Amino acid sequence: MGTITGKEFIERIDRLNTDIWIDGKQMEGKISEHPAFKGILQSKASLYDLQMEKQLKSKLTYLSDDLGEPIGLSFLQPKTKKELKKRRTMIEQWAKHTNGMMGRSPDYMNTVVMAFASSTSLLEGRKNCFPENIQTLYERAKKQDLSFTHTFITPQVNRSQFHFDSSTEPISAKVIDRNENGIIIQGARLLATQGGLTDEVLVYSAGGVIDEDLAYAFSIPSDTIGLKFICRESFVGGDSTFDYPLSSRYEEMDTILVFDHVLVPWNRVFFYDNIEASNQFLLQSSFQSFASHQVITRQIVKTEFVLGVAELLVETINVSEYQHIQEKLAEVIIGLETMKALLAKSEIDAKLDEEGYMRPSMLPLQVASNIFPKIYPRFSEIIEIVGASGMVSLPTEKDFFSAIRTDLDQYLQGANKNAEDRVKIFRLAWDLTMSSFGTRQTQYERYFFGDPIRLSSQLYSTYPKEQYVKQISEFLELNS
Ligand SMILES: Cc1cc2nc3c(=O)[nH]c(=O)nc-3n(C[C@H](O)[C@H](O)[C@H](O)COP(=O)(O)OP(=O)(O)OC[C@H]3O[C@@H](n4cnc5c(N)ncnc54)[C@H](O)[C@@H]3O)c2cc1C
Repeated sequence: MGTITGKEFIERIDRLNTDIWIDGKQMEGKISEHPAFKGILQSKASLYDLQMEKQLKSKLTYLSDDLGEPIGLSFLQPKTKKELKKRRTMIEQWAKHTNGMMGRSPDYMNTVVMAFASSTSLLEGRKNCFPENIQTLYERAKKQDLSFTHTFITPQVNRSQFHFDSSTEPISAKVIDRNENGIIIQGARLLATQGGLTDEVLVYSAGGVIDEDLAYAFSIPSDTIGLKFICRESFVGGDSTFDYPLSSRYEEMDTILVFDHVLVPWNRVFFYDNIEASNQFLLQSSFQSFASHQVITRQIVKTEFVLGVAELLVETINVSEYQHIQEKLAEVIIGLETMKALLAKSEIDAKLDEEGYMRPSMLPLQVASNIFPKIYPRFSEIIEIVGASGMVSLPTEKDFFSAIRTDLDQYLQGANKNAEDRVKIFRLAWDLTMSSFGTRQTQYERYFFGDPIRLSSQLYSTYPKEQYVKQISEFLELNS
């Protein structure tokens, strides 16, 4: 089959019998028609349709030797720098289409599955490890253009380092039984963005596992029996793209996953009861390099969007002459160019790994992943500061079709824009930063790669500092 159309994607998701709970009710009917999900599903569908466009096909797909059909390029295992660049161009194209707002566009998880499949030798011959199941999943995902969500973390109950979960009923989802059919999972996992809106969910116990029951990884269909997705409140403001230009299109939803005696068949298990594999695979595989390469590419596109919005605000109310405004816009430009330089360096320094795949260099990507969670909240603040009262003087589309239109036309015009366009621009700035959708974006980018504090600790402890210490020691002629 290979690549699918948007329509095929929607039909497939609608056919699933996924157990989704939202606002106190179990979802009924077609997911694609639900007010909380229809916008994001349409946006996702439009990405699949792009793969079918004649002039974009060679940019977004590749011809698989073994399958003989076009496959989404995010599944490509790059063997050369040219192929790595091709991957990036594809990611850029999809991110531009969604203005960098879709953190979980399908290429993110496709990249994760591709990276897992490119590192299976790490699990070869090890206790309770089934690398062949990762390969099978990868082949199936390519062939059917599957989409995934993922859940890597445990419920946020007690994060003290000395806490040991001794509850009789599991809180963090764990293996409670192993039988001839597979492993049985009971408990909960966080936090699957787009949970219930994808074909499958990839579950991985990440981050310092010390209990064998928690040391597992697998992927199962979203409508597996016993699996439930609990949604947060929807941040879709409404259908109007005038009033809610972003949330009406890109509200991704975040979900808690509850496993009630879920049977994960053996052919779906990547590993279980293996603490070492659980703690090492993510770090040693090409997961971090390829996933970060995808993420930084999208974040650059998002920063370009932020810059465009900020500059439009500046022009609309004509405040470019003020130095503090110039300084703030320069902050966004510096962030953008820094991220671009780091991404380029990751490709220039890319190297073939032991499996023969061209891995982008991790260090520049690691630096970028440390920078973005700090600069993105600042970008949001900059837009709020530049926009000032305009961020809340926001009549709706309906107001422009009412008797007060003449007032709006007179009092809400901009320096070089009519009132309607001015309000459109400010509503976009508001949806990007101050609406429930916008504030979630800030939290999302802050925690995308995990806790930013622990990211800095990881950078500090892995960065090769010895040569610099040696230089100073020699300069001072230190003896000890
Ligand atoms: C909008 C959004 C979408 C997300 N989507 C997904 C998704 O699709 N899939 C997925 O798997 N995850 C997702 N996540 C989860 C994300 O990976 C986590 O938020 C992140 O890993 C941090 O974990 P936590 O939220 O449990 O924070 P916690 O670990 O509970 O941290 C809470 C606070 O305590 C501090 N703290 C806790 N432990 C330590 C420690 N050991 N050392 C120092 N400080 C510590 C932290 O710095 C932080 O300030 C999402 C998160 C958000 C906000």
